[in-house]
Amino acid sequence: MSLLRSWFGGPSAAAETAHINRRRAELAKAGALGSNVVASSNPLREAFRNSKDLAETVAIVAVVAARTVGMEMFDVQLQGALALGRGRVAEMQTGEGKTLACTPAVAWYAREGRGVHVMTVNDYLARRDAKWMGAIYESLGLTVGCIQQTMSADERRHAYACDITYATANEIGFDFLRDQLALRLEDQVHRPFQAAVIDEADSILIDEARIPLVLAGGEEDEEALARRADPLVRRFRRGLDFTLDEYGRNIALTDAGAHAAESYFRIGNLYAERNLAAYTAVHNAIHAHALLRRDVDYVVKDRAIESVDQFKGRIAPDRRWPAGLHTAIEAKEGLPFRKQGRVLASITLQNLVALYPQACGMTGTAATQADQFRRFYGMDVAVIPTNRPLIRVDEADAVFPTKRDKEETVIEEIGAVHATGQPILVGTASVEESERLSARLTGIPHAVLNARNEEEEAGIVARAGERGVVTISTNMAGRGVDIRLGEGVADLGGLYVIGMNRHESRRIDHQLRGRSGRQGDPGRSRFFVSMEDQLMVQYGVDHPEHRHDAESIQRLVEGQNLEIRLFLNKYESVMEGQRQRIQERRQAILRSDGPELERLVALRTIDDLWSVYLETVTELRAGIHWQGYTGHDPLYAYLTKVDVLYRELDEQIEPETAARLEAARASGIDPSQRGATWTYLTTDMPFGDYTERVIRGLTRKVAKRQLWG
Ligand code: ADP
Repeated sequence: MSLLRSWFGGPSAAAETAHINRRRAELAKAGALGSNVVASSNPLREAFRNSKDLAETVAIVAVVAARTVGMEMFDVQLQGALALGRGRVAEMQTGEGKTLACTPAVAWYAREGRGVHVMTVNDYLARRDAKWMGAIYESLGLTVGCIQQTMSADERRHAYACDITYATANEIGFDFLRDQLALRLEDQVHRPFQAAVIDEADSILIDEARIPLVLAGGEEDEEALARRADPLVRRFRRGLDFTLDEYGRNIALTDAGAHAAESYFRIGNLYAERNLAAYTAVHNAIHAHALLRRDVDYVVKDRAIESVDQFKGRIAPDRRWPAGLHTAIEAKEGLPFRKQGRVLASITLQNLVALYPQACGMTGTAATQADQFRRFYGMDVAVIPTNRPLIRVDEADAVFPTKRDKEETVIEEIGAVHATGQPILVGTASVEESERLSARLTGIPHAVLNARNEEEEAGIVARAGERGVVTISTNMAGRGVDIRLGEGVADLGGLYVIGMNRHESRRIDHQLRGRSGRQGDPGRSRFFVSMEDQLMVQYGVDHPEHRHDAESIQRLVEGQNLEIRLFLNKYESVMEGQRQRIQERRQAILRSDGPELERLVALRTIDDLWSVYLETVTELRAGIHWQGYTGHDPLYAYLTKVDVLYRELDEQIEPETAARLEAARASGIDPSQRGATWTYLTTDMPFGDYTERVIRGLTRKVAKRQLWG
């Protein structure tokens, strides 16, 4: 078991904090002498510079924190700092003060001046925390910067050159991708990665881990095909032209559908290699029509598609589906097409984090996923006790046969509790659910949050504990902001958290509950579930007598999701290895001092070939080639093919560079000109790509058998 609960609860934790506290007292005395002297002779700064020991550094930073930001670190915060300094994931509840607790570890990793990245969930928190904690670091002689989405390359380079840089994982990743395509060494903004301290580690390392960050550019002409496939697919009928599997997650063309497409496009065999583009367009169009629902999976705003993150129930405006699918949805909705471009470079957050030689994380909920942290990142989870005992009451789930019954009861419950003045936070699974509930909650003033405006929502969430306040929030909204109780609210029982659903993962439920009962506050939480909820339906729970099994279903699903991830990881690690090899080769060229022209052409050639390669592999992964080859082990087929493709790419670089060089010399075209590029996140493929869906389908069947015989 990789949980370090016993260590932290045990005598050595107490002995270690006692030691740190003794050192704190001594240092505080010594430091007091230096407080009026010029900064360079500050004895605490001296002590920090000389410290070769983590515990000593924690003691020093705790003293500096008290002086600069006026907070005396609690023992549990010292323990958290030690865990972080040792490369662990520290589980610390909401409101325990993680922002402060991480500072000794951040300073520890920063001591050699090679740069530490503190990863936050959004730009607002990066800005807030860098400023708030900045006084501590500056007093230690460390420089601090933060990255904001709106910053220029120069500003970014400057911020990354600081000893400590607060930034979202996405910004760090996008900068990494842009660096990969730099044509001059001085255009790169990053230094080699050294250490990452990851806030809300479960969100970044687990929930978002597999979402690729993408850098795109150039032109592409699949729009025309997407536009043409749309009217065809509108006429398709389920069961006749295509089929949907029993979970409503997987589509397949029938023979009739394939024939219809063949005559519509006036092509021969739809499954022939040369008709891949047409096949893809038809497949995407069916996907857009049959699987994706407006206002659930995406919303239409300002004549554009904005995808909804189902996992978090929030709108993700900067996210797109893989190009062809996004275009298919635009065709379905009759919207103008947004330029998609060609993927030039991409990396998942998981692979990004793996590039740091040292990493640690903190979050309110990690213990249930200890296995994942261990297996994917080699990080142990350390459960840090709360500063004060937790007295929140977590009630047993209320169970209803239908969603309707459930929602009616929740509305009555909100009305009754609201009348007493007790504040209520309702956690919903989706934007749609938030809005439906909001519409039915007439006569009760309430706020609805779905993580659209980080800063404004942080303010609203911060007030969610005040008397009489009702807040409806999707899972991610206002995350990272803690909820303090208003005056007299403790006497009313504190914050009442209502969960509208059990999530697939217990961790997400714990996160919601953890909004209440911070720092020893009273509080209450309850989940309302119905037999029509997604979790129940998906696993075939149709009898109320199974209602006590929500947790066992969750455990099972978590185990399976882990298996699926381990499996998919095999695919992804192959490509990541190739990306690294190509990148090393490219970086060597960038560093070399060959003639200006030759280097440029070589770099551009590598970039273009890699981009084509990415496209081919993406199509492979979408499973499009495999559907015609049933009977093959998809992983084996994929790996073999990818290997061949990569070798072809590798062998092509030199002759292609030579040919282009000749052409460039002849034509006089300047290869340093590149068209515009832009970045986006690929949205979670709805239900994953083909392979993932197949695996999920299989494991779900097994799960049902295990559960219900
Ligand atoms: P978390 O991220 O763990 O939910 P925050 O870092 O947002 O919590 O801190 C919650 C609140 O607790 C903040 O308002 C902070 O000022 C306060 N706080 C943290 N540590 C201390 C401390 N040692 N003494 C007093 N207040 C603290």
